[in-house]
Parts: sequence; C-alpha cells; structure tokens
Amino acid sequence: MQKMICEASRAIGVELTEGQTQQFVRYAELLIEWNQKFNLTAITNIEGIATKHFADSLTLVPVLNGLIADLQQNHQFEVQQMLDLGTGAGFPGLPIKIVLPNLKVTLMDSTGKKVMFCQTVIDDLKLSGIRALNGRAEEAAHDPLHREKYDLVVARAVAPLVTLVEYLLPFVRVGGLCVAMKGSDSEAELAQAQGAISKLGGSVAVLHPIQLPNSNDKRALIVIHKIANVKPQYPRQGGAPRNKPLK
Ligand code: SAH
Repeated sequence: MQKMICEASRAIGVELTEGQTQQFVRYAELLIEWNQKFNLTAITNIEGIATKHFADSLTLVPVLNGLIADLQQNHQFEVQQMLDLGTGAGFPGLPIKIVLPNLKVTLMDSTGKKVMFCQTVIDDLKLSGIRALNGRAEEAAHDPLHREKYDLVVARAVAPLVTLVEYLLPFVRVGGLCVAMKGSDSEAELAQAQGAISKLGGSVAVLHPIQLPNSNDKRALIVIHKIANVKPQYPRQGGAPRNKPLK
C-alpha cells in the first residue's frame, strides 16, 4: 500500500516524506473501513484510492505552489486560508493539507456523514489547522464568517463550471483565486461559464492541462482570479445556480 501511494504521487511530481506516506496509508484504511458502512466513494480498492483520489488530488500541488508564490509576490499577502467546497470524503482538501501542512484548510460539504468521516481522518491523523464543516454553498457563502474570507477555494467533481463558479467565487477574497478540477470537456465548460465568471467578479480564466500517469483521461485545472467584490445577491438561493445558471 505504502509503495503504491508513494509511486502514484511521485508520478505526478510530488515526493512524499515517510510521515506523509504513513498518513496516506491510514487515510486509505479509514476510507476502506467507512465505505463498508456508508457509501462514501465508488472507488474502494487501494490502487484506485492511490491514483484516482490521492494522486489526482495532488495534481493541484505543483500548480498551487506556483500560484501561491505569485499571489504572495503580487498582492503582498500570505496565502493562508483554503476552502475545499463539496469535499466529499476529503478530496482534494485532505491530501493537499497532508502535503502542504502550513495551509489553513476548511473542508465543507452539505452531507453530514461525509463531514463526520473527514473529522475522523483529521482526528486520527492528528492534523491541526484544518476543520470540517457541514454546510451548503448557497447558504454558507452569505455568512459573514465565510463570505470573501478565503485566499484560495478549490473543488473537484461538484457541479458544472457555470454553476460551480457561483458557489465558489463568493467565498474568495478580492485578490485571491479559485481552482476547479475538471475533466475532458473543460474547454466547453469554460466557454459556457465566461459570462457568469465576469458577473461574479472573476477574471478571465486560465486552463492548465493535467496529464495523469498511466491514463488517457484528459484533465484540466481551471484557475480564476477574483478581481472585484461579488454582488450581494450571489449565490442565489433555491437551486438557481444549478437550475438557471448565469449567462
Ligand atoms: N470533491 C469530492 C466529492 C465530489 S461529490 C471528490 O472529488 O471526490 C460532490 C460533493 O459535493 C458531495 O459530497 C455533495 O454532498 C457536495 N455538494 C454538492 N452540492 C453542494 C453544495 N451546494 N454545497 C456544499 N456541498 C455540496
């Protein structure tokens, strides 16, 4: 298990320390154990967990390192607070926290049992500077505790980009950024979301293609800078971001 996790991470350019590897091993054990009781993820074998969950989440790390350095230089602020919205069983937020322990991480999901699982991993791995919250973007993003409070907001597999930007951008401070992990149709999703992005105070998005080792799956990270405050009506309530996406 240890070797598989190390090799999957190395293949995407992330070298794990012995301690980090042990943390990933324990995380995988907990995921397999919990998945027998609750349906947390469709991927349950160790190879799938190592590649499709851990390594896939870590594809963000090399890109984030560059983006964080740029933000700190250009905007003169420390990138500290990261939110992972719709984290599910902790992806990508928990693997990123294990590898970048100085980031302050908030994991948020609307499903209580997934948040309970994330908290179990946090406690078991004795991670500090990370919290797991039960919340829904449409409500939490209007809460002054969360609105425009994060330097960096990430999400994987939560919603089509045009919907996702309405969830994510209200959480991002002006000067910060959000990164959406997307699959093969990312260019079409981006074209469809451009209007929404500018309405929500986002910049023109940049697409970083990602190649997963031993896989033909096309992946991309879509990076959007927050350049203006978001209007008070966003995100809209009652399922509107999903049912009537912004144009
Ligand atoms: N990011 C994880 C989980 C993806 S599944 C991964 O890549 O493996 C999508 C998750 O988003 C689910 O756990 C669901 O509960 C959560 N979710 C969907 N809409 C949400 C919303 N509006 N606010 C918060 N969480 C949401």
